[in-house]
Amino acid sequence: MNEEQRLEMSKVRTGESVDKKSSQDKPLSEKTTEDFAHYFQTTYQPPDIRKARKRYREDIEVHYDFSIPEQMKTFGVGKKFLIRTYGCQMNEHDSETMAGILMEMGYEATTVDEEADLIILNTCAIRENAENRVFGEIGHLKALKIENPELIIAVAGCMSQQETVVNRILEKHQQVDLIFGTHNIHRLPQLIQEAMFSKAQVVEVWSKEGDIYENLPKARQGRIKAWVNIMYGCDKFCTYCIVPMTRGKERSRRPEDIIQEVRHLAAQGYKEITLLGQNVNSYGKDFEDIDYLFGDLLNDMHKIDIPRVRFMTPHPRDFDDRAIEALAKGGNLLDHIHLPVQSGSNEILRRMNRKYTRESYLELVRKIREAIPNVTLTTDIIVGFPNETEEQFEETMSLVEEVGFESAYTFIYSPREGTPAAAMEDNVSMEVKKERLQRLNELVNKQAAESMKQYEGKVVKVLVEGESKRDPNVLSGYTEKNKVVNFKGPKSVIGQIVDVKITDAKTWSLDGEIVTNTAEVKEDGKIHS
Ligand code: SAM
Ligand code: SF4
Repeated sequence: MNEEQRLEMSKVRTGESVDKKSSQDKPLSEKTTEDFAHYFQTTYQPPDIRKARKRYREDIEVHYDFSIPEQMKTFGVGKKFLIRTYGCQMNEHDSETMAGILMEMGYEATTVDEEADLIILNTCAIRENAENRVFGEIGHLKALKIENPELIIAVAGCMSQQETVVNRILEKHQQVDLIFGTHNIHRLPQLIQEAMFSKAQVVEVWSKEGDIYENLPKARQGRIKAWVNIMYGCDKFCTYCIVPMTRGKERSRRPEDIIQEVRHLAAQGYKEITLLGQNVNSYGKDFEDIDYLFGDLLNDMHKIDIPRVRFMTPHPRDFDDRAIEALAKGGNLLDHIHLPVQSGSNEILRRMNRKYTRESYLELVRKIREAIPNVTLTTDIIVGFPNETEEQFEETMSLVEEVGFESAYTFIYSPREGTPAAAMEDNVSMEVKKERLQRLNELVNKQAAESMKQYEGKVVKVLVEGESKRDPNVLSGYTEKNKVVNFKGPKSVIGQIVDVKITDAKTWSLDGEIVTNTAEVKEDGKIHS
């Protein structure tokens, strides 16, 4: 299928450069949707929930054979790239892969727009405001493109997977040279080459549900913490969410590939990894040849000599006993679980297609607390789902109190084209949604502040990440439970885990003093444990 699509693509491209010359020669401003239509007949299909639901049986291929084509290996020498990332950790990590590929082509990274020969916007489609920000940025880049016509502007990520977005870019934003989807990252070298030499805008968005590309290079953003994908895609089809359409079907990486990657990171001195997936605890359910689930992977992570292992994001419905038992072992498996609940109302949860109830969520929380008594729980919540009543919203508020979430990402529901919820009538005004969000945030802030207070006077382990953004004389890092801690200390402890005594608790951060009896500060400024 993969190769077929590629061949189909290359046929179209050959055709374009010879037969369709007349259309290509038109100035971009004179092109119509028809001129772009061929892209959609060949490589692009709009999100289609009915089709997506039938995809379970499609085979997943794992590819270990990525390499930069010979002619592209020095293509970027003397050139610079800039990647601007929007949205979730998955996108952050995809950007690291794109950067890795570009660096193998000889490109250098820059943070200055004017210096860049290639700008990639790695986009997010989860809410409308995320999309608006990207369109704003595409608009800003127009002036840069006029000044420097050689600049290549590319749009990647989840927005590229949507037909309306691609159409809008093709019709109204001709400064964009290249649009590629979430399943096409491994094709970046070829796509850049095409964008450079083609007169038309280049679009490559495979609607294929996705294979797995194992050996893509990565330019990781730091040397302390690393993202590790364990699975891709999502088959849950929550009615409000675009992700199953933009990221393809659920597919797990082979355990040996993940274990090898984590071992390698540990050997390089990384102190923390986050196992990534839209649904980390569905991990392994797609394996047909082995019985190996998320809990088994956690057990294997527990054996690796890396101080901290986190994961993002589990689904309440898939949280099984195997995973809870593994987490209860502690060690490098940290006692913080981000467990998105979305709503406290059974009726809303049903209409969201979350496939759990308030009661089963609370039962899961009880089980987790029984196994891991010190666990910290955080969550995601959507307010203002279509027709949410005041009583249903109150049920969310009471659930937040009952569980005692220490923080929450809270969102106003944003209709996403192609999702079932977008077709639901909605009788809740934006004013009411905003007022509910504010009330929810006040409650979450109150609980966050209370949870922080209990740290005053206590000593916590902090993985020091660097200087604080606000004050370069202050160092900043995270506790095991993911609380930000600011303290004064020698720069040499950056990248280490140190004990810090908390002196002052704020709502979202803690201030403290480094404890020097566990780690002695020598005259050279270094801490010797
Ligand atoms: N897979 C995870 C889960 O099941 O909770 C979360 C992934 S999603 C990228 C992150 C969060 O965005 C969701 O938990 C949800 O709260 C929020 N979200 C997704 N679609 C949304 C929409 N249409 N409007 C508002 N918030 C949305
Ligand atoms: Fe979206 Fe998460 Fe639901 Fe998947 S499980 S559809 S990513 S909210």
